[in-house]
This record gives sequence, structure tokens and C-alpha cells, in this order.
Amino acid sequence: MDELFADVLVVGSGNAGLCAALAALEQGARVAIIEKAPKHLRGGNSAYTALYRFAYEGLDDLRNLASIDDELASKMVVEPYPPSAFLEDLLRTSGGRANPALMKTMADESYAVMKWMQEHGLELEPSIDGSREHNGKLHWQPGAVLRPVGLGGGILNALFDAVSRGGGEIVYEAQMIDLVLDERGDVDGVVVKTPNSREDVRAGAVILAAGGFEASPEMRARYLGPGWDLAKVRGTRFNTGEALEVALRHGAAAAGEWSGCHATMVHAVASSVEMGEETLFPLSYPFGIIVDTAGERFTDEGANYFMQTYAKLGREILNRPVGRAFQIFDAKTAHLLKGEGAGQLAYAVPHLTADSVSELAAMADIPPAQFQREIELFNAAVQPGEFDASILDGKHTIGLPINKSNWALPIDSPPFQAFPVECGITFTYGGLLTDVNGQVFDTSGSAIRGLYAVGEIAGTFFSNYAGGSGLIKGAVFGKRAGEHAARN
Ligand SMILES: Cc1cc2nc3c(=O)[nH]c(=O)nc-3n(C[C@H](O)[C@H](O)[C@H](O)COP(=O)(O)OP(=O)(O)OC[C@H]3O[C@@H](n4cnc5c(N)ncnc54)[C@H](O)[C@@H]3O)c2cc1C
Repeated sequence: MDELFADVLVVGSGNAGLCAALAALEQGARVAIIEKAPKHLRGGNSAYTALYRFAYEGLDDLRNLASIDDELASKMVVEPYPPSAFLEDLLRTSGGRANPALMKTMADESYAVMKWMQEHGLELEPSIDGSREHNGKLHWQPGAVLRPVGLGGGILNALFDAVSRGGGEIVYEAQMIDLVLDERGDVDGVVVKTPNSREDVRAGAVILAAGGFEASPEMRARYLGPGWDLAKVRGTRFNTGEALEVALRHGAAAAGEWSGCHATMVHAVASSVEMGEETLFPLSYPFGIIVDTAGERFTDEGANYFMQTYAKLGREILNRPVGRAFQIFDAKTAHLLKGEGAGQLAYAVPHLTADSVSELAAMADIPPAQFQREIELFNAAVQPGEFDASILDGKHTIGLPINKSNWALPIDSPPFQAFPVECGITFTYGGLLTDVNGQVFDTSGSAIRGLYAVGEIAGTFFSNYAGGSGLIKGAVFGKRAGEHAARN
């Protein structure tokens, strides 16, 4: 590795690290990024993403970020999603445990950070895949109307280009394996391992942006619990948590939910790591039911929009017998089977189809009598009302051990379809304790001078998650940390 010089050294080249690098460059700092992956696999989990959640007051704010012609604009129903609503989502999904100061900063600065990235080349467009049409109008889940052109790849292209234009240096296949401390105990650099060397790289400040530990089976079993070592990994193979462990070993305090993670339903046919597009996001479950291999429902499929529930369903499935479940649909909702970002592809995978529920159960190896009974009970519990996939329609069941709160339709119209699903971990919630500038704190409550952490290596989330919050967290605190580190 040629000798690196940096005022600010960033570890990891995902969304958070790139935002930190860009912000530090804007302050005039010399910036280098070390990235463990080879160049063709760069970008971490950020490469797999679909969109940023951010606050806006209405359509004008969105048109300020994306080119939306008048014809499309006239069809778009965009309710305001002010910072207060975003904050409410962040606090509610965390069960009230998330740090309110961090969450408020994230919600308050989310729009401005989107504008900042747009000015650096990030292109946005309405997420038509993510909308639902009703009476000729397009409706979206609040906070998730726009998406980057080219999704995660588009984000990375824009940010890598901006960092290169700004003069940032990026070294691939360079893994941080330790921190370098000066005689006062302040962070002075990192120890980097490359295929041919192991060396100390000095820097004025180090910003850790190396993601969580979701790709380490050993750490998953250690922190998330038994069975998690066997879970499928949706994203990059490189987020194995060593930078996190190094920081803890040097006295950094832990934050976020260490036994918790973002885990969704993935198709049983999905690969065990770095899943391809066609196997992502089978997210139409609110319009059907989910049963386990014993034929029992175990969750309120329609509790909320999928973006407010999908991140906790992976864990629920991992805890069911053999870690598997089935999304069940009938002919009435077959046209609603689609996925965010991956469009119709999300349900274009091998699945089971039959003309009767007992036949479907036999194909799925579910006890047919139990399955039939579950469906009869469910159908009998469905209340009258208008089904509307584009809003929380309130069409619900009553009297079941687990009711369905919205979009409850009887499962009675053949053909019936069953999609086998398993748990896929997205990222871990446990990380380092940081403030609004990304500074890392030690276990006695003091800032560790020279050390920052942004993105998923900073522990923030608990229990559940509002879709799109991971990227915006990395962008808001990445920008802040880059600026703070460069100024200090
Ligand atoms: C399939 C999938 C879909 C997702 N969709 C969305 C979405 O639509 N919206 C959203 O907000 N979030 C989404 N997420 C979550 C999102 O990916 C994360 O919140 C966000 O990308 C994290 O960014 P980051 O920069 O912290 O980490 P990453 O993007 O994962 O980057 C971490 C980088 O650090 C590198 N690294 C790791 N260890 C070291 C080391 N020791 N030395 C040097 N480099 C190291 C890795 O190689 C990687 O490049 C999704 C995640 C997945 C897996």
C-alpha cells in the first residue's frame, strides 16, 4: 500500500462512510477511505438498498428534489410527512428506547441532507413501484415517495464520483484490524491489513463506517442468540464486525439493541448471502395471511404498512418451527403481489399453486386439517368494509387469537398460492455510543478524542424499524461527523 496521508481517515465505503468523506472534503480536509472489499464488491449493504426515508411538507418539496412532470404530479397524492411525523415513527418503532436527541436530529435534518446529496449528483425519482393506485391516483406509504435513480447502485455511483472529484483517496482490500493510540490514549490512526502488508496509518481523526456484524455467524450467535448463526444474510459478506470489536476493546461504550437486528422475510430459495434482486422483498404479505409449517397464523399481517412491520418479521419466522413460514394469497389479491424496488420480480420465484386449500397444504407439507381450520376461522372473522390496498383501510377481523388489523379479505378464491419464506438478516442494531456529531464515547462517559462512528456501526435502533431509516441515519450523521472531524 502506498503511504497514505489523511486528516480524516474513513473505514468503510458504504453510504455513511462516503457521506462522511464528502463532508470532510468540503471542509478542506485531506481524506482517505480504506475499504475491506475489492473494488468490484465495494459499497457494503448500501449497494442493496432502495430508498432513503426523509421528511417533507408536500409535493413541492419533492419536486424540488426530483424532476416530476405536471401530468405525473396531478396523479400523486402526497400527504405531508413533517419531521415530527418522522420522529414519531422512529420513537414508536423503537418501543420508545431510541435516543430522542439523535432521532430528532435525524428527522429534522433529513430533508436538507437529501438536498445536499442531490447537489453532489444524487438523482431522485418517484418510486412508482412503491405506490398503490386507487381511483386513478397514486398513493405512497408516508416518507417513502422518492427513491434514488438506480437504487443502491445509483447512490454509490453518485457518492463515489463526488468523493473522487473532491480529491478523496480510496484504498480497496484494506481492512482495519486495530486502532493506533497516542501516548494520551487519543486515537491517532488505524492498523490496516492488505493482501501484502500490515501497517499503521496515522490520521488526525478516524471515522468508523464499517457496518454491523450481520455477516459474522459467530457474532450473530453470540449476540442475537441461538439459531441466528444459521440465518440467511441479505447483504454484503464483508460486514463481520471486527471494527466494532476493536473499538469496544479500546473502551468504547455500546449502544443500540445488541440482541436485536433488522431481519425480514426472504424467499426460501434465496441465496445464503448477498441476495439477488429477484429474491428480495416479498412484501405483499399485508394482503394475504402468513402461516407457519403447523398451519397456524402467528402475526398480524396487516398491523401497519409493510414498511413499519417488515423489519421484525424475520425474527418471528426464525422462532417458528424449522424457521419457515408461508405467505398465502388467493386470486383476489394476486395482482397485488409485488416488491419495492424489485417490482414484480419479487414474486416471480418458485412457489406452490393449487385449486383448494387442502391441496395447497399437502403440497406445502402443512397438516391439511389444521390449515383448513385456520382459514375457515380467519374467513369467518373478516368484517365487512371496503378493501383498499392504497391506504390503511381498517378492514379487519374480530375474535381471533391474533387479529388482522387492515386489508382482511377471506381466503376463498382459487387458485391459492403459497410462497415459502425464511428469515433474512439485513443488519444488526448493536453498535457504538455516539453523539449527534458521531463522536464515540467511552464507558465512563467521555468522548474518545479522534474517534467517530457513523452508519450501522453506531448503535441506534431497537426492536423494529421504519423502512428507509438506515440510509438517512448514515447520511445525516455521516455528514455531521465528516464536518466535525475535519474542523477539529
Ligand atoms: C438487502 C438490503 C436492502 C436494504 N434496503 C434499504 C433501504 O431501502 N433503505 C435503507 O435506508 N436501508 C436499507 N438497508 C439497510 C442499509 O443497507 C444500511 O442501513 C446502510 O446501507 C448502512 O450503511 P453503512 O455505510 O453503515 O454500511 P455499509 O453500506 O454496509 O458499508 C460498510 C462498509 O464497511 C466495509 N468494512 C467492513 N469492515 C471493514 C473493516 N474492518 N475495514 C475496512 N472496511 C470494512 C464493508 O466492506 C462495507 O463496504 C438495506 C440493507 C440490505 C442488506
